[in-house]
Amino acid sequence: MSYRCIALTHYHVFMPPTSKESGRPKIKVSPRGAARLKSGHLWVYKSDVVAADGVLPGSLVTVTDQRGKPFGTALYSSSSQIAIRMISHDQVTDWPTVIRQRISDAIAYRERFVRDTNAYRVIFSEADLLPGLVVDRYNDIFSLQILTQAMDPNPVREAVISQLATQLNPASVIERVDPRVRELETLPPRNSGLLHGEKTATTFTMNGVQFHFDALEGQKTGAFLDQRENYASAALYAHGNALDVFCYQGGFALHLAKVCDQVTGIDSSRPALEVADQNATLNRREIEWIEANAFDLLKDYSASNHLYDTIVLDPPAFAKTKRDLDSAIRGYKELNLRALKMLRPGGILVTCSCSYHVSQTTFLEMLSAAAIDAHRSLRLLEVRGQAKDHPVLLNMPETGYLKCVIGDVS
Ligand code: SAH
Repeated sequence: MSYRCIALTHYHVFMPPTSKESGRPKIKVSPRGAARLKSGHLWVYKSDVVAADGVLPGSLVTVTDQRGKPFGTALYSSSSQIAIRMISHDQVTDWPTVIRQRISDAIAYRERFVRDTNAYRVIFSEADLLPGLVVDRYNDIFSLQILTQAMDPNPVREAVISQLATQLNPASVIERVDPRVRELETLPPRNSGLLHGEKTATTFTMNGVQFHFDALEGQKTGAFLDQRENYASAALYAHGNALDVFCYQGGFALHLAKVCDQVTGIDSSRPALEVADQNATLNRREIEWIEANAFDLLKDYSASNHLYDTIVLDPPAFAKTKRDLDSAIRGYKELNLRALKMLRPGGILVTCSCSYHVSQTTFLEMLSAAAIDAHRSLRLLEVRGQAKDHPVLLNMPETGYLKCVIGDVS
């Protein structure tokens, strides 16, 4: 996700959402906004709001078309480009009660579809009909993020924490604050910290691989939980000498080490590699970690004919906005071209993009152009997305962002 930074001019003080429907403000949307909602999307942009005079930041509002026909209830943000996030087709009279029910539904969904892990996303914002709320579970420690005005008031926070505590009994809940998001939402600054319990460090397991988690101390740790199922898939095909490029704290590398003869992880962040090394020790694995700029290292390695049997590419989002798309595709192509050249025949390429703006089609086109330039042919073994604890809403493409292609290269 990317956020634009704006100068902070003033803070809003929020009133708790009222539990009574009476007096709920109405917001009219333009025909374009109405068409978007009719198509099943949940957002209306600021430019499609016709009238929101006097509506308080973070309020629950009734959304109507220009004639006054209601679409349902939404959360309103006075400062975000996304002014309206629908929460229901009905009139919501008691939001904290609805929040509790939705958390319960989100937990039930994970019980059905999440396997082999005690670390997963428990609540994924719009995809769980709780816009602006993200909760990740790392074993007995939960990490919570609030991303919208309407999720910030104390009664909302209390409903969230007490429902999580009742159903999943976490040792602690820690709030992770992104100061840029609070600025954008004109919310007063807050520090990250404990909201419930005392515990700040633990270990968690994904697919039988163990990881350290430390929420607050020196080296903040966490994980890219959205890659969990892709780690397991990569390990189905990986073999021989493996290179994990952009390895962070070793997510792919530790999974590859179960099946490969030799694994090297590359990242430009020393603190990430230090945790990666602790994770290797925790799993009794020997992995080589190299602190380097991946672009420079792949250039050197491909020039000096280093060869591998498995290469993983999982770079950060190159296209943070639509405008970055061309340069992002050039970046992905350069990495994939070099990796393809460095794979032995029968080699496995695992290549990812977490940029929402790079569609699956565009990503596959980039990869096919890279294969042509590298004079290699690639058979698609799997075209994958994000793990099922990061659900994708069919009518809201923005909820899907991760691509992970696994190919056999000859
Ligand atoms: N594969 C990881 C997640 C990668 S996140 C996992 O599954 O856990 C992207 C990583 O790229 C970050 O760790 C960041 O430190 C690293 N990174 C960003 N730019 C880089 C560069 N130019 N060279 C090497 N690493 C880079």
